[in-house]
Amino acid sequence: MKNFFTEFAAARAEYAIARKLYRMKMLSFLLAALLCICPLACGTYPAAAAPSVRADASERTIFLTFDDGPTDSTTPKVLDILRDLGVKATFFVIGRQIRGREEILRRTAAEGHAIGIHTYTHDYGTIYHSREALIEDIGRCRAAIRAVLPRYDRKIYRFPGGSFLCPDLRAAVKAAGYRYYDWNASAGDAEGNYSAEQLFENAVRTAQNKDPVLLLLHDGVGYRQTLRALPKIISYFQNEGYRFKTL
Ligand SMILES: [Zn+2]
Repeated sequence: MKNFFTEFAAARAEYAIARKLYRMKMLSFLLAALLCICPLACGTYPAAAAPSVRADASERTIFLTFDDGPTDSTTPKVLDILRDLGVKATFFVIGRQIRGREEILRRTAAEGHAIGIHTYTHDYGTIYHSREALIEDIGRCRAAIRAVLPRYDRKIYRFPGGSFLCPDLRAAVKAAGYRYYDWNASAGDAEGNYSAEQLFENAVRTAQNKDPVLLLLHDGVGYRQTLRALPKIISYFQNEGYRFKTL
């Protein structure tokens, strides 16, 4: 239980910091948005998933992405749902949470999901302090993954909070050989106390007219409503003819 509350408090504190940083960075975000109206134009998405207008809805693609795991309370349940519904997803993991949860990470890989680098510490003040600090944090996370999965060779990355928080650091990440992925749709599960129904509606609304859809979800501690919403979210996109792919 101690671990749960420590993790939970840390997650809430991170969220508060993220909101503060978000407000501080809004001006730079607006500027970035002017230069780059849609993240799809930034070249951060796979070439095969370039946006296009398609007449055949059955060809549409969705990437489910889960940030902030692995956790004991959420990740295994997410994996169960994905297994039961037969879809694959991408997990952007927090390196410092891997110790003690090695089996969860092994299971994630063994069941065919993609694993990406999110951060080692998820401490905004540290990782966004400088280019060097960010690249070091990314490297520590990658090393933590490789300690459990020695053959892990991916260099896919998601900026905590999104790259719009620190557009000036995007180039450093690319120069270090990493490919970063933001999102263009979100259930909003880290943004407030939404019900499962509201999370579902957020996911559907924000994904409208997007192809591919990169949907942001979380498997950190305390995301019970995400677990409740997930089967309905998956069923909706399956019924709409989307193909589920991993990054
Ligand atoms: Zn995160």
